[in-house]
Amino acid sequence: MPDYGHPIRFGSFITPVNSPASAPVRLAVLSEELGLDLVTFQDHPYQPSFLDTWTLLSWVAARTDRVQLSGNVLNLPLRQPAVLARSAASLDLLSGGRVNLGIGAGGFWDAIEAMGGRRLGPGQAVEALDEAIDVLRGIWDAAERRPLRAGGDHYRVAGAKRGPAPAHDIPVWIGAYKPRMLGLTGRKADGWLPSLPYLKPGDLQRGNRLIDEAAGAAGRDPREITRLLNVTGLQSAGDLARLALEDGISTFIVMGDDPGGLRHFATEVAPAVRDQVDRGRGQRGTRPAGRRRSTMALARRRPGIDYDGLPASLAAHAVEPGDAGYARYTSSYLRGGAPGLVLRPQTTEQVRDAIAVAGRHRNLPLGIFSAGHGLSGRSLNDGGLVIDVGPLNTVEVLDAQAGTVRAGPGARWADVARVLTPHGLAITSGDYGGVGVGGLATAGGIGWFAREHGLTIDLLRGIDVVLADGTVAHASASENPDLFWAMRGAGANFGVAVSFEFAAAPVGRLAFAQLVFDASGTAGFLTRWGTAIEAADRSVSGEIILGGRQGGRQYAQALLVVDSDDPDTIIERLQPVADIAPLLDQSVALTSYDQIMQMMLSEAPQQGQGEPHSHSGLVRHLSPDVAAAAAALLETGASYFFAIRAVGGAVSDVPSDATAYGWREANFSVAAFGTRASGLDPMWEKLVPHLEGMYLSFETATGPEVLARAFPPEHLARLRALKRRYDPTGLFRDNFYIDPEAADSAA
Ligand SMILES: Cc1cc2nc3c(=O)[nH]c(=O)nc-3n(C[C@H](O)[C@H](O)[C@H](O)COP(=O)(O)OP(=O)(O)OC[C@H]3O[C@@H](n4cnc5c(N)ncnc54)[C@H](O)[C@@H]3O)c2cc1C
Repeated sequence: MPDYGHPIRFGSFITPVNSPASAPVRLAVLSEELGLDLVTFQDHPYQPSFLDTWTLLSWVAARTDRVQLSGNVLNLPLRQPAVLARSAASLDLLSGGRVNLGIGAGGFWDAIEAMGGRRLGPGQAVEALDEAIDVLRGIWDAAERRPLRAGGDHYRVAGAKRGPAPAHDIPVWIGAYKPRMLGLTGRKADGWLPSLPYLKPGDLQRGNRLIDEAAGAAGRDPREITRLLNVTGLQSAGDLARLALEDGISTFIVMGDDPGGLRHFATEVAPAVRDQVDRGRGQRGTRPAGRRRSTMALARRRPGIDYDGLPASLAAHAVEPGDAGYARYTSSYLRGGAPGLVLRPQTTEQVRDAIAVAGRHRNLPLGIFSAGHGLSGRSLNDGGLVIDVGPLNTVEVLDAQAGTVRAGPGARWADVARVLTPHGLAITSGDYGGVGVGGLATAGGIGWFAREHGLTIDLLRGIDVVLADGTVAHASASENPDLFWAMRGAGANFGVAVSFEFAAAPVGRLAFAQLVFDASGTAGFLTRWGTAIEAADRSVSGEIILGGRQGGRQYAQALLVVDSDDPDTIIERLQPVADIAPLLDQSVALTSYDQIMQMMLSEAPQQGQGEPHSHSGLVRHLSPDVAAAAAALLETGASYFFAIRAVGGAVSDVPSDATAYGWREANFSVAAFGTRASGLDPMWEKLVPHLEGMYLSFETATGPEVLARAFPPEHLARLRALKRRYDPTGLFRDNFYIDPEAADSAA
């Protein structure tokens, strides 16, 4: 040291003039076009000839795609840190993780006071900045549920709500020169950002030493702190390379608003500096610094996890408690979580590495996470490992004519529909566009074309699976047919699916109907619903949703797809269903499958907390007995969401022994969601004798008796035998675990 081994980056330092207002924007866009890594603007909020820097940063973020952004540096006395934290997190989310926070304690105190800012007396700036950093990071720490209490004399935050979590760990860079500020930089910041014209000979070395000492005293690795430098453009490539190799500077930001100067810096100077630094590092054998985890993150590591033993391929994308990206893994759709380590493999090879890591942590829970909508599957856990295959999310039409489609487990069904609709194709999935391919296509898939096309798994032609021993197996009707059988209904027990091949069906414009019924005589209503759906043309699929009574009335919302674009045909097929009870509201739209999936989707961060509570059953007919038990359950208000989805039709055309999903005779899937087990369970138990099996994706209970309901006995026996073959030690055990050693008592 001090070459800290960071990648060499280059940026621009642009004056935020407002006349013309387009000038700094043009220079920012040019910076990106020239291949610079970073665009920065000075921040003088009291200066009427300048644009407001934060507004300008937002505008530039929207006009660029790749370049990183920062204030250089933001004026803290006029930018209240709790609000600045939210602004920065918001822009980071909007820009795809491109925000960096260069901050300074201010200067020009008369101007700051004139704007209502508070003058900081001698020595106060360090405390103010110190408090501000705590507030910023505290607000970004959305994973922490307790309200934020931070700061002190300058920026006291007394119970603020946290969040949003930024898209990435926003680096805090301090623009400062004095020893106490440099000490703070070493203790808490992610970067030091001085300007070369303000430095005297020896200042950089002194500054680095103070930062490194303070970092060491705070238990940090000095390489956690990036050294940036504003330069004038007068320095040669050799000067900058020396600053990199001898003074640890890794980011050079050129000051000036001349497009020619910018071009010269980006196209002549920057490549030459990179070359010289590469050569210099090669000669010295300097190792790249790699990713440095913040001290805050290190303090939150969970016991029993070999964090430092991760292969480099996984370490680069791993997420731990305290990392900014961690908030994503504290909630799935309905369930909360607090995993100890999230591995985010980007390739099949890395999934193999991740499974090897899981194999070394068998004492911990292991979640397989595709899009986080699991109810039965614990894709999150407390203190364990999660393998998030979300990055494997490509969707490709291999042959539009034949309808062959390949999809990664991390793709959501809305993504699949978006790619397929222009080809006149669709794969029946669940009703919800946000659900992941991985979880649904390994369990079943009861969706909008169930009666016409079958389950999602019925359209599968092949699956690539990484098995517990790390081998990659292709499962299809001709290769590993046993595994193919098991993956279609009990896939979560057999490996991590990394690629699915489907035969999509031709689908054009279709009708989406939303009907609201007065379902007050609930048992009779349900029976009539069952009869009407069973009698309907197979092009009609969908569901009915009921909740607690409101104002003494029971309402039922029906959502139906009719796979036809002919209005007369649509009405003819819907009318018998619409006639079963008084209609309170109705709409029928001609639309596309893609549009339906986009409607059934929220891009907001998932919010689930705690444990969801739901039960599932499959049933042949909504007979008067079934309907009476369901109505009694609803009458108690124990279920806030009671959904009956249509199966039957093409689902029943497939022989029961063709896939692990075995309950092919059923015409309906029933799912009841309750807030409390004490309310829901006793009423559900009354329904159970009428049910013939269950669809595991809607069930949250676990245990042998639940397993016996999920699979017919001979299926369960075969699954146990296959589990002994493919996962004898039970690595995959967090979603309807099929214990390979358990006696086949169920069978
Ligand atoms: C709002 C909502 C609507 C739904 N609607 C329907 C519906 O209409 N029809 C229907 O059939 N289902 C429906 N479901 C259930 C849904 O299909 C399952 O919960 C499914 O498991 C979610 O998949 P995911 O990848 O999003 O979930 P995740 O939580 O990421 O995964 C759930 C489980 O699936 C397993 N898994 C995930 N990825 C893989 C993989 N790559 N390889 C092997 N196993 C894997 C794991 O055991 C994991 O615990 C719905 C769920 C929600 C939350």
